[in-house]
Amino acid sequence: AAAESTVALGGRFARELNELAVPWEAEEAPDPKLLVLNGPLAAELGLDPAYLGSEEGARFLLGNHVPEGATPVAQAYAGHQFGGYSPLLGDGRALLLGELEDARGRVKDLHLKGSGRTPFARAGDGRAVVGPMLREYVVSEAMHALGIPTTRSLAVVATGRQVRRDDMLPGAVLARVAGSHLRVGSFQYARATENTELLRRLADHAISRHYPDAAAEENPYLALYRAVVASQASLVAQWMLVGFVHGVMNTDNMTISGETIDYGPCAFMDAFNPAAVYSSIDVGGRYAYANQPVMAEWNLARLAEAMLPLIDEDQKAAVPVAVEALGGFRRYYSAAWFGGMATKLGLAAGKPDTAAAEEVSDLVDGVTGILKDGPVDYTLFFRNLAKAARGDSRPVRGMVMDLAAYDAWAERWQKLGPDAGLMDRTNPAYIPRNHLVEEALAAATGGDLDPLHGLLEAVTAPYSERPGMERYAEGAPEDFGTYMTFC
Ligand code: AMP
Ligand code: MG
Ligand code: MG
Repeated sequence: AAAESTVALGGRFARELNELAVPWEAEEAPDPKLLVLNGPLAAELGLDPAYLGSEEGARFLLGNHVPEGATPVAQAYAGHQFGGYSPLLGDGRALLLGELEDARGRVKDLHLKGSGRTPFARAGDGRAVVGPMLREYVVSEAMHALGIPTTRSLAVVATGRQVRRDDMLPGAVLARVAGSHLRVGSFQYARATENTELLRRLADHAISRHYPDAAAEENPYLALYRAVVASQASLVAQWMLVGFVHGVMNTDNMTISGETIDYGPCAFMDAFNPAAVYSSIDVGGRYAYANQPVMAEWNLARLAEAMLPLIDEDQKAAVPVAVEALGGFRRYYSAAWFGGMATKLGLAAGKPDTAAAEEVSDLVDGVTGILKDGPVDYTLFFRNLAKAARGDSRPVRGMVMDLAAYDAWAERWQKLGPDAGLMDRTNPAYIPRNHLVEEALAAATGGDLDPLHGLLEAVTAPYSERPGMERYAEGAPEDFGTYMTFC
Protein backbone atom coordinates (compact mmCIF):
# COMPACT_ATOMS: atom_id res chain seq x y z
CA ALA A 1 0.00 0.00 0.00
CA ALA A 2 2.88 2.37 -0.76
CA ALA A 3 0.65 4.41 -3.10
CA GLU A 4 -1.83 5.00 -0.30
CA SER A 5 0.29 7.83 1.04
CA THR A 6 -0.59 9.77 -2.14
CA VAL A 7 -4.25 10.01 -1.07
CA ALA A 8 -4.61 13.04 1.19
CA LEU A 9 -8.14 14.27 1.76
CA GLY A 10 -8.89 17.67 3.23
CA GLY A 11 -11.74 18.23 5.66
CA ARG A 12 -12.43 21.89 5.06
CA PHE A 13 -16.19 21.63 4.71
CA ALA A 14 -16.48 19.47 7.82
CA ARG A 15 -14.31 21.90 9.77
CA GLU A 16 -15.75 25.22 8.62
CA LEU A 17 -19.38 24.16 8.51
CA ASN A 18 -19.68 21.48 11.16
CA GLU A 19 -23.35 22.38 11.73
CA LEU A 20 -23.97 21.09 8.18
CA ALA A 21 -21.75 18.00 8.49
CA VAL A 22 -22.44 14.76 10.31
CA PRO A 23 -19.33 12.53 10.57
CA TRP A 24 -20.36 9.14 9.23
CA GLU A 25 -19.03 5.88 7.88
CA ALA A 26 -19.91 4.01 4.72
CA GLU A 27 -21.61 0.64 4.95
CA GLU A 28 -19.21 -2.30 4.54
CA ALA A 29 -19.47 -3.89 1.07
CA PRO A 30 -19.37 -7.70 1.12
CA ASP A 31 -17.63 -8.26 -2.22
CA PRO A 32 -16.26 -5.11 -3.92
CA LYS A 33 -15.63 -5.17 -7.65
CA LEU A 34 -14.46 -2.16 -9.65
CA LEU A 35 -16.75 -1.81 -12.67
CA VAL A 36 -15.40 1.34 -14.30
CA LEU A 37 -12.58 3.72 -13.46
CA ASN A 38 -11.91 7.13 -15.00
CA GLY A 39 -8.14 6.96 -15.48
CA PRO A 40 -7.64 10.48 -16.91
CA LEU A 41 -9.71 12.05 -14.11
CA ALA A 42 -7.82 10.05 -11.49
CA ALA A 43 -4.56 11.37 -12.91
CA GLU A 44 -5.91 14.95 -12.91
CA LEU A 45 -6.68 14.53 -9.22
CA GLY A 46 -3.25 13.16 -8.44
CA LEU A 47 -4.68 9.73 -7.64
CA ASP A 48 -2.79 6.68 -8.85
CA PRO A 49 -5.06 4.65 -11.19
CA ALA A 50 -3.10 1.50 -10.28
CA TYR A 51 -3.88 2.08 -6.61
CA LEU A 52 -7.56 2.70 -7.33
CA GLY A 53 -7.59 -0.55 -9.31
CA SER A 54 -6.17 -2.49 -6.36
CA GLU A 55 -8.20 -4.27 -3.70
CA GLU A 56 -7.56 -1.49 -1.21
CA GLY A 57 -8.29 1.11 -3.87
CA ALA A 58 -11.76 -0.36 -4.46
CA ARG A 59 -12.40 -0.22 -0.70
CA PHE A 60 -11.25 3.42 -0.71
CA LEU A 61 -13.75 4.16 -3.51
CA LEU A 62 -16.51 2.56 -1.42
CA GLY A 63 -15.66 4.56 1.69
CA ASN A 64 -14.62 1.32 3.43
CA HIS A 65 -10.96 2.28 3.59
CA VAL A 66 -10.71 5.81 4.96
CA PRO A 67 -7.29 7.41 4.53
CA GLU A 68 -5.71 8.63 7.73
CA GLY A 69 -6.86 12.09 8.71
CA ALA A 70 -9.99 12.08 6.52
CA THR A 71 -13.43 12.79 8.03
CA PRO A 72 -16.25 11.50 5.80
CA VAL A 73 -19.47 13.41 6.46
CA ALA A 74 -23.09 13.39 5.40
CA GLN A 75 -24.13 16.92 4.45
CA ALA A 76 -27.32 18.51 5.76
CA TYR A 77 -29.55 20.49 3.43
CA ALA A 78 -33.19 21.37 2.94
CA GLY A 79 -35.03 21.76 -0.34
CA HIS A 80 -38.12 22.38 -2.37
CA GLN A 81 -39.06 19.10 -4.01
CA PHE A 82 -41.54 19.54 -6.88
CA GLY A 83 -42.55 22.85 -5.30
CA GLY A 84 -43.08 21.58 -1.74
CA TYR A 85 -40.63 22.53 1.00
CA SER A 86 -38.82 19.88 3.06
CA PRO A 87 -36.91 21.42 5.97
CA LEU A 88 -34.57 18.44 6.31
CA LEU A 89 -33.24 16.37 3.41
CA GLY A 90 -29.47 15.90 3.47
CA ASP A 91 -27.29 13.09 2.17
CA GLY A 92 -29.44 10.06 2.88
CA ARG A 93 -27.22 7.71 0.92
CA ALA A 94 -24.14 9.77 0.16
CA LEU A 95 -20.94 10.89 1.87
CA LEU A 96 -18.43 13.63 1.31
CA LEU A 97 -15.11 11.80 1.74
CA GLY A 98 -13.18 15.06 1.71
CA GLU A 99 -11.48 17.53 -0.59
CA LEU A 100 -8.67 16.96 -3.06
CA GLU A 101 -6.54 19.41 -4.97
CA ASP A 102 -6.35 18.78 -8.70
CA ALA A 103 -3.34 19.27 -10.97
CA ARG A 104 -4.35 22.91 -11.52
CA GLY A 105 -4.57 23.59 -7.80
CA ARG A 106 -8.37 23.67 -7.71
CA VAL A 107 -10.14 22.19 -4.68
CA LYS A 108 -12.55 19.36 -5.52
CA ASP A 109 -14.99 17.36 -3.42
CA LEU A 110 -14.70 13.58 -3.53
CA HIS A 111 -18.19 12.30 -2.87
CA LEU A 112 -19.83 8.88 -2.75
CA LYS A 113 -23.37 7.96 -3.69
CA GLY A 114 -24.95 4.71 -2.53
CA SER A 115 -22.65 4.29 0.48
CA GLY A 116 -25.33 3.26 2.98
CA ARG A 117 -27.89 4.79 5.29
CA THR A 118 -27.04 8.01 7.14
CA PRO A 119 -28.98 9.95 9.78
CA PHE A 120 -30.75 11.65 6.82
CA ALA A 121 -31.91 8.39 5.21
CA ARG A 122 -35.54 8.55 6.44
CA ALA A 123 -37.28 5.51 4.89
CA GLY A 124 -34.55 4.95 2.28
CA ASP A 125 -32.16 2.01 2.31
CA GLY A 126 -29.11 4.19 1.68
CA ARG A 127 -28.13 2.14 -1.33
CA ALA A 128 -27.83 2.54 -5.07
CA VAL A 129 -27.82 0.00 -7.87
CA VAL A 130 -25.48 -0.60 -10.80
CA GLY A 131 -27.75 0.71 -13.60
CA PRO A 132 -28.47 4.22 -12.30
CA MET A 133 -24.89 4.71 -11.05
CA LEU A 134 -23.56 3.83 -14.50
CA ARG A 135 -26.15 6.18 -16.04
CA GLU A 136 -24.76 9.00 -13.91
CA TYR A 137 -21.23 7.97 -14.87
CA VAL A 138 -21.85 7.98 -18.62
CA VAL A 139 -24.15 11.02 -18.77
CA SER A 140 -21.95 13.22 -16.55
CA GLU A 141 -18.83 12.32 -18.53
CA ALA A 142 -20.74 13.08 -21.76
CA MET A 143 -21.76 16.46 -20.34
CA HIS A 144 -18.15 17.20 -19.42
CA ALA A 145 -17.01 16.32 -22.94
CA LEU A 146 -19.66 18.72 -24.27
CA GLY A 147 -18.05 21.48 -22.21
CA ILE A 148 -20.97 21.76 -19.77
CA PRO A 149 -20.15 22.32 -16.08
CA THR A 150 -20.86 19.10 -14.21
CA THR A 151 -19.80 16.74 -11.50
CA ARG A 152 -17.32 14.23 -12.90
CA SER A 153 -17.43 10.50 -12.36
CA LEU A 154 -14.34 8.81 -10.99
CA ALA A 155 -15.54 5.23 -10.59
CA VAL A 156 -18.39 2.85 -10.06
CA VAL A 157 -17.73 -0.06 -7.71
CA ALA A 158 -20.19 -2.93 -7.33
CA THR A 159 -20.72 -3.81 -3.68
CA GLY A 160 -21.52 -7.49 -4.16
CA ARG A 161 -24.81 -6.95 -2.33
CA GLN A 162 -28.23 -7.48 -3.86
CA VAL A 163 -30.48 -4.47 -3.33
CA ARG A 164 -34.26 -4.54 -3.19
CA ARG A 165 -35.97 -2.39 -5.79
CA ASP A 166 -38.92 -3.73 -7.82
CA ASP A 167 -36.60 -6.70 -8.36
CA MET A 168 -33.41 -7.57 -6.54
CA LEU A 169 -30.59 -5.69 -8.31
CA PRO A 170 -26.81 -5.54 -7.89
CA GLY A 171 -25.71 -2.72 -5.59
CA ALA A 172 -23.04 -0.16 -6.47
CA VAL A 173 -21.38 3.01 -5.25
CA LEU A 174 -20.52 5.94 -7.51
CA ALA A 175 -17.48 8.06 -6.64
CA ARG A 176 -17.94 11.54 -8.07
CA VAL A 177 -16.01 14.77 -8.06
CA ALA A 178 -17.28 18.37 -8.02
CA GLY A 179 -16.13 21.90 -7.34
CA SER A 180 -18.37 21.49 -4.33
CA HIS A 181 -21.69 19.97 -3.32
CA LEU A 182 -23.07 23.24 -1.95
CA ARG A 183 -26.68 23.51 -3.05
CA VAL A 184 -29.45 26.08 -2.98
CA GLY A 185 -30.86 23.71 -0.35
CA SER A 186 -27.72 24.16 1.80
CA PHE A 187 -28.57 27.88 2.10
CA GLN A 188 -32.22 27.08 2.78
CA TYR A 189 -31.14 24.79 5.61
CA ALA A 190 -28.75 27.34 7.11
CA ARG A 191 -31.39 30.08 6.84
CA ALA A 192 -33.97 27.92 8.61
CA THR A 193 -31.68 27.54 11.63
CA GLU A 194 -32.06 31.32 12.13
CA ASN A 195 -28.35 31.39 12.83
CA THR A 196 -27.21 34.28 10.64
CA GLU A 197 -23.59 33.70 11.61
CA LEU A 198 -23.82 30.16 10.16
CA LEU A 199 -25.50 31.48 7.02
CA ARG A 200 -22.69 34.02 6.63
CA ARG A 201 -20.02 31.36 7.18
CA LEU A 202 -21.67 29.23 4.48
CA ALA A 203 -21.72 32.19 2.08
CA ASP A 204 -18.07 33.00 2.86
CA HIS A 205 -17.16 29.36 2.19
CA ALA A 206 -19.01 29.50 -1.15
CA ILE A 207 -17.35 32.79 -2.12
CA SER A 208 -13.92 31.48 -1.28
CA ARG A 209 -14.40 28.27 -3.25
CA HIS A 210 -16.33 29.51 -6.28
CA TYR A 211 -16.52 33.28 -6.60
CA PRO A 212 -13.43 34.77 -4.92
CA ASP A 213 -13.92 38.07 -6.79
CA ALA A 214 -17.15 38.64 -4.84
CA ALA A 215 -15.13 39.11 -1.64
CA ALA A 216 -13.81 42.45 -2.88
CA GLU A 217 -17.25 43.84 -3.74
CA GLU A 218 -19.02 46.41 -1.61
CA ASN A 219 -21.71 43.83 -0.78
CA PRO A 220 -20.01 40.43 -1.17
CA TYR A 221 -23.21 38.47 -0.50
CA LEU A 222 -25.17 40.33 -3.13
CA ALA A 223 -22.24 39.74 -5.48
CA LEU A 224 -22.33 36.04 -4.60
CA TYR A 225 -26.03 35.91 -5.36
CA ARG A 226 -25.57 37.68 -8.69
CA ALA A 227 -22.77 35.29 -9.60
CA VAL A 228 -24.93 32.23 -8.85
CA VAL A 229 -27.75 33.72 -10.95
CA ALA A 230 -25.33 34.18 -13.84
CA SER A 231 -23.82 30.68 -13.50
CA GLN A 232 -27.14 28.91 -13.37
CA ALA A 233 -28.55 30.93 -16.28
CA SER A 234 -25.54 29.93 -18.34
CA LEU A 235 -25.76 26.30 -17.19
CA VAL A 236 -29.42 25.86 -18.04
CA ALA A 237 -28.91 27.54 -21.42
CA GLN A 238 -26.23 24.95 -22.13
CA TRP A 239 -28.60 22.13 -21.17
CA MET A 240 -31.21 23.56 -23.52
CA LEU A 241 -28.73 23.90 -26.38
CA VAL A 242 -27.81 20.19 -26.26
CA GLY A 243 -31.36 18.99 -25.55
CA PHE A 244 -30.68 17.80 -22.01
CA VAL A 245 -33.55 17.27 -19.57
CA HIS A 246 -32.31 17.08 -15.96
CA GLY A 247 -35.53 15.65 -14.58
CA VAL A 248 -35.33 16.67 -10.90
CA MET A 249 -34.50 20.37 -10.61
CA ASN A 250 -35.41 20.52 -6.94
CA THR A 251 -33.54 23.18 -4.98
CA ASP A 252 -31.46 20.45 -3.30
CA ASN A 253 -30.21 19.40 -6.74
CA MET A 254 -29.10 22.87 -7.93
CA THR A 255 -25.53 23.80 -7.06
CA ILE A 256 -24.10 27.12 -5.96
CA SER A 257 -21.11 26.50 -8.26
CA GLY A 258 -23.34 26.21 -11.33
CA GLU A 259 -22.34 22.60 -11.99
CA THR A 260 -24.86 20.00 -13.07
CA ILE A 261 -25.44 17.56 -10.23
CA ASP A 262 -27.51 14.52 -9.27
CA TYR A 263 -28.19 12.71 -12.48
CA GLY A 264 -31.32 10.74 -11.76
CA PRO A 265 -34.13 10.37 -14.26
CA CYS A 266 -32.34 12.54 -16.83
CA ALA A 267 -32.14 12.16 -20.60
CA PHE A 268 -31.16 13.81 -23.86
CA MET A 269 -34.09 14.45 -26.19
CA ASP A 270 -34.27 12.41 -29.34
CA ALA A 271 -37.07 14.19 -31.25
CA PHE A 272 -37.31 17.88 -30.37
CA ASN A 273 -40.25 18.35 -28.02
CA PRO A 274 -40.69 21.29 -25.62
CA ALA A 275 -42.87 19.10 -23.37
CA ALA A 276 -40.31 16.28 -23.12
CA VAL A 277 -40.31 14.62 -19.66
CA TYR A 278 -38.44 11.42 -18.87
CA SER A 279 -38.94 11.08 -15.13
CA SER A 280 -41.58 8.60 -14.04
CA ILE A 281 -42.30 10.76 -10.98
CA ASP A 282 -42.72 14.09 -12.80
CA VAL A 283 -46.37 13.51 -13.66
CA GLY A 284 -47.15 17.25 -13.93
CA GLY A 285 -44.25 17.98 -16.28
CA ARG A 286 -42.84 20.56 -13.85
CA TYR A 287 -39.31 19.84 -15.09
CA ALA A 288 -40.15 19.35 -18.79
CA TYR A 289 -37.50 20.48 -21.30
CA ALA A 290 -38.98 23.90 -22.02
CA ASN A 291 -39.76 24.60 -18.35
CA GLN A 292 -36.16 24.28 -17.22
CA PRO A 293 -35.22 27.98 -17.44
CA VAL A 294 -38.40 28.99 -15.59
CA MET A 295 -37.72 26.41 -12.88
CA ALA A 296 -34.10 27.54 -12.51
CA GLU A 297 -35.35 31.08 -12.02
CA TRP A 298 -37.92 29.87 -9.46
CA ASN A 299 -35.17 28.06 -7.55
CA LEU A 300 -33.03 31.20 -7.58
CA ALA A 301 -35.91 33.12 -5.99
CA ARG A 302 -35.79 30.54 -3.17
CA LEU A 303 -32.02 31.16 -2.88
CA ALA A 304 -32.68 34.91 -2.64
CA GLU A 305 -35.16 34.31 0.18
CA ALA A 306 -32.58 32.27 2.05
CA MET A 307 -29.91 34.94 1.55
CA LEU A 308 -32.00 38.02 2.45
CA PRO A 309 -30.46 38.51 5.93
CA LEU A 310 -27.03 38.65 4.29
CA ILE A 311 -28.04 40.96 1.46
CA ASP A 312 -29.25 43.60 3.93
CA GLU A 313 -29.69 43.53 7.70
CA ASP A 314 -32.98 45.28 7.05
CA GLN A 315 -34.84 42.51 5.24
CA LYS A 316 -37.47 44.88 3.86
CA ALA A 317 -34.71 46.80 2.15
CA ALA A 318 -33.14 43.55 0.91
CA VAL A 319 -36.21 42.45 -1.06
CA PRO A 320 -36.10 44.96 -3.95
CA VAL A 321 -32.32 44.51 -4.19
CA ALA A 322 -32.72 40.73 -4.50
CA VAL A 323 -35.56 41.07 -6.99
CA GLU A 324 -33.42 43.33 -9.15
CA ALA A 325 -30.54 40.84 -9.01
CA LEU A 326 -32.81 37.93 -9.92
CA GLY A 327 -33.93 40.02 -12.90
CA GLY A 328 -30.48 39.35 -14.34
CA PHE A 329 -31.45 35.74 -14.94
CA ARG A 330 -33.58 36.47 -18.02
CA ARG A 331 -30.94 38.69 -19.58
CA TYR A 332 -28.12 36.19 -19.00
CA TYR A 333 -30.26 33.27 -20.11
CA SER A 334 -31.45 34.97 -23.33
CA ALA A 335 -27.95 36.07 -24.24
CA ALA A 336 -26.56 32.56 -23.64
CA TRP A 337 -29.39 30.87 -25.51
CA PHE A 338 -29.36 33.16 -28.56
CA GLY A 339 -25.58 33.24 -28.70
CA GLY A 340 -25.42 29.47 -28.39
CA MET A 341 -28.10 28.92 -31.02
CA ALA A 342 -26.35 31.30 -33.41
CA THR A 343 -23.18 29.23 -32.97
CA LYS A 344 -25.12 26.01 -33.57
CA LEU A 345 -26.25 27.59 -36.85
CA GLY A 346 -22.64 28.45 -37.71
CA LEU A 347 -23.27 32.17 -37.33
CA ALA A 348 -21.81 34.96 -35.24
CA ALA A 349 -24.52 36.48 -33.04
CA GLY A 350 -23.82 40.01 -34.29
CA LYS A 351 -23.53 43.19 -32.23
CA PRO A 352 -26.64 43.67 -30.06
CA ASP A 353 -29.34 45.97 -31.46
CA THR A 354 -28.07 45.86 -35.02
CA ALA A 355 -29.92 44.65 -38.12
CA ALA A 356 -27.48 41.70 -38.32
CA ALA A 357 -28.33 40.62 -34.76
CA GLU A 358 -32.02 40.98 -35.55
CA GLU A 359 -31.69 38.71 -38.58
CA VAL A 360 -29.82 36.05 -36.56
CA SER A 361 -32.41 36.16 -33.81
CA ASP A 362 -35.18 35.76 -36.44
CA LEU A 363 -33.33 32.74 -37.83
CA VAL A 364 -33.06 31.22 -34.35
CA ASP A 365 -36.81 31.66 -33.85
CA GLY A 366 -37.34 30.20 -37.31
CA VAL A 367 -35.30 27.09 -36.62
CA THR A 368 -37.15 26.35 -33.38
CA GLY A 369 -40.39 26.67 -35.38
CA ILE A 370 -39.14 24.07 -37.87
CA LEU A 371 -38.06 21.76 -35.04
CA LYS A 372 -41.42 22.10 -33.25
CA ASP A 373 -43.19 21.21 -36.45
CA GLY A 374 -41.24 17.86 -36.30
CA PRO A 375 -40.80 15.07 -35.14
CA VAL A 376 -37.18 15.97 -35.91
CA ASP A 377 -34.22 14.37 -34.16
CA TYR A 378 -32.67 17.38 -32.42
CA THR A 379 -29.03 16.25 -32.50
CA LEU A 380 -29.05 14.88 -36.06
CA PHE A 381 -30.79 17.97 -37.38
CA PHE A 382 -27.83 20.21 -36.55
CA ARG A 383 -25.25 17.71 -37.83
CA ASN A 384 -27.18 17.48 -41.09
CA LEU A 385 -27.56 21.24 -41.23
CA ALA A 386 -23.75 21.49 -41.31
CA LYS A 387 -23.86 19.28 -44.42
CA ALA A 388 -26.31 21.78 -45.93
CA ALA A 389 -23.85 24.56 -45.10
CA ARG A 390 -21.34 22.58 -47.20
CA GLY A 391 -23.79 22.34 -50.10
CA ASP A 392 -25.60 19.04 -49.49
CA SER A 393 -29.06 19.82 -48.18
CA ARG A 394 -30.54 16.35 -48.88
CA PRO A 395 -30.00 14.89 -45.38
CA VAL A 396 -31.63 17.80 -43.56
CA ARG A 397 -34.44 18.16 -46.11
CA GLY A 398 -35.13 14.47 -45.57
CA MET A 399 -35.90 15.19 -41.90
CA VAL A 400 -38.28 18.14 -41.93
CA MET A 401 -42.05 18.16 -42.38
CA ASP A 402 -42.71 21.50 -44.07
CA LEU A 403 -40.17 21.69 -46.88
CA ALA A 404 -41.37 25.07 -48.14
CA ALA A 405 -40.89 26.58 -44.69
CA TYR A 406 -37.44 25.01 -44.40
CA ASP A 407 -36.35 26.18 -47.86
CA ALA A 408 -37.46 29.75 -47.16
CA TRP A 409 -35.62 29.71 -43.84
CA ALA A 410 -32.50 28.08 -45.35
CA GLU A 411 -32.25 30.69 -48.10
CA ARG A 412 -31.98 33.47 -45.51
CA TRP A 413 -29.60 31.38 -43.41
CA GLN A 414 -27.27 30.53 -46.34
CA LYS A 415 -27.01 34.24 -47.18
CA LEU A 416 -25.23 34.82 -43.87
CA GLY A 417 -22.51 32.33 -44.85
CA PRO A 418 -22.75 29.73 -42.07
CA ASP A 419 -19.43 28.25 -40.95
CA ALA A 420 -19.75 24.46 -41.29
CA GLY A 421 -16.54 23.83 -39.34
CA LEU A 422 -17.86 25.86 -36.42
CA MET A 423 -21.10 23.86 -36.59
CA ASP A 424 -19.21 20.57 -36.41
CA ARG A 425 -17.26 21.79 -33.40
CA THR A 426 -20.47 22.93 -31.69
CA ASN A 427 -23.10 20.32 -32.52
CA PRO A 428 -22.26 16.87 -31.15
CA ALA A 429 -22.51 13.78 -33.33
CA TYR A 430 -22.54 11.49 -30.30
CA ILE A 431 -24.73 12.02 -27.27
CA PRO A 432 -25.75 9.36 -24.74
CA ARG A 433 -28.76 8.23 -26.74
CA ASN A 434 -31.49 6.78 -24.56
CA HIS A 435 -31.66 3.47 -26.39
CA LEU A 436 -27.88 3.08 -26.19
CA VAL A 437 -27.78 4.01 -22.50
CA GLU A 438 -30.47 1.43 -21.75
CA GLU A 439 -28.65 -1.20 -23.79
CA ALA A 440 -25.38 -0.47 -21.94
CA LEU A 441 -26.96 -0.46 -18.47
CA ALA A 442 -28.90 -3.66 -19.08
CA ALA A 443 -25.75 -5.42 -20.33
CA ALA A 444 -23.70 -4.10 -17.39
CA THR A 445 -26.31 -5.21 -14.87
CA GLY A 446 -25.95 -8.67 -16.43
CA GLY A 447 -22.15 -8.50 -16.16
CA ASP A 448 -21.16 -7.40 -19.69
CA LEU A 449 -19.39 -4.03 -19.64
CA ASP A 450 -18.45 -3.90 -23.35
CA PRO A 451 -21.48 -1.87 -24.51
CA LEU A 452 -20.81 0.66 -21.72
CA HIS A 453 -17.18 1.08 -22.81
CA GLY A 454 -18.25 1.48 -26.45
CA LEU A 455 -20.74 4.17 -25.52
CA LEU A 456 -18.21 5.96 -23.30
CA GLU A 457 -15.70 5.98 -26.14
CA ALA A 458 -18.26 7.68 -28.40
CA VAL A 459 -19.67 10.28 -26.00
CA THR A 460 -16.39 11.37 -24.44
CA ALA A 461 -15.23 12.65 -27.87
CA PRO A 462 -18.59 13.86 -29.18
CA TYR A 463 -17.73 16.12 -32.11
CA SER A 464 -15.55 14.14 -34.50
CA GLU A 465 -17.35 11.37 -36.34
CA ARG A 466 -15.26 8.24 -36.46
CA PRO A 467 -15.52 5.20 -38.72
CA GLY A 468 -17.13 2.19 -37.09
CA MET A 469 -19.14 4.37 -34.69
CA GLU A 470 -22.10 5.09 -36.97
CA ARG A 471 -24.63 3.47 -34.66
CA TYR A 472 -23.81 5.99 -31.92
CA ALA A 473 -24.79 8.87 -34.22
CA GLU A 474 -28.11 7.40 -35.32
CA GLY A 475 -31.46 8.42 -33.91
CA ALA A 476 -33.62 6.15 -31.78
CA PRO A 477 -35.00 3.08 -33.56
CA GLU A 478 -38.67 3.50 -34.42
CA ASP A 479 -39.75 0.74 -32.06
CA PHE A 480 -37.94 2.31 -29.07
CA GLY A 481 -41.17 3.94 -27.87
CA THR A 482 -41.71 6.35 -24.99
CA TYR A 483 -38.68 6.64 -22.74
CA MET A 484 -39.04 6.81 -18.96
CA THR A 485 -36.38 6.60 -16.29
CA PHE A 486 -36.63 5.94 -12.59
CA CYS A 487 -34.47 7.31 -9.78
P1 AMP B 1 -32.71 13.13 -5.07
O1 AMP B 1 -33.91 13.95 -5.48
O2 AMP B 1 -32.60 11.82 -5.73
O3 AMP B 1 -31.45 13.91 -5.22
O4 AMP B 1 -32.85 12.76 -3.50
C1 AMP B 1 -33.65 13.46 -2.59
C2 AMP B 1 -33.37 13.03 -1.17
O5 AMP B 1 -33.65 11.64 -0.97
C3 AMP B 1 -31.93 13.22 -0.72
O6 AMP B 1 -31.98 13.64 0.62
C4 AMP B 1 -31.34 11.84 -0.87
O7 AMP B 1 -30.24 11.64 -0.03
C5 AMP B 1 -32.51 10.97 -0.45
N1 AMP B 1 -32.47 9.60 -0.99
C6 AMP B 1 -32.68 9.21 -2.27
N2 AMP B 1 -32.59 7.87 -2.39
C7 AMP B 1 -32.28 7.37 -1.15
C8 AMP B 1 -32.04 6.07 -0.61
N3 AMP B 1 -32.09 4.96 -1.36
N4 AMP B 1 -31.76 5.98 0.70
C9 AMP B 1 -31.69 7.07 1.49
N5 AMP B 1 -31.91 8.31 1.04
C10 AMP B 1 -32.20 8.48 -0.25
MG1 MG C 1 -30.18 15.09 -4.73
MG1 MG D 1 -30.67 11.43 -6.77
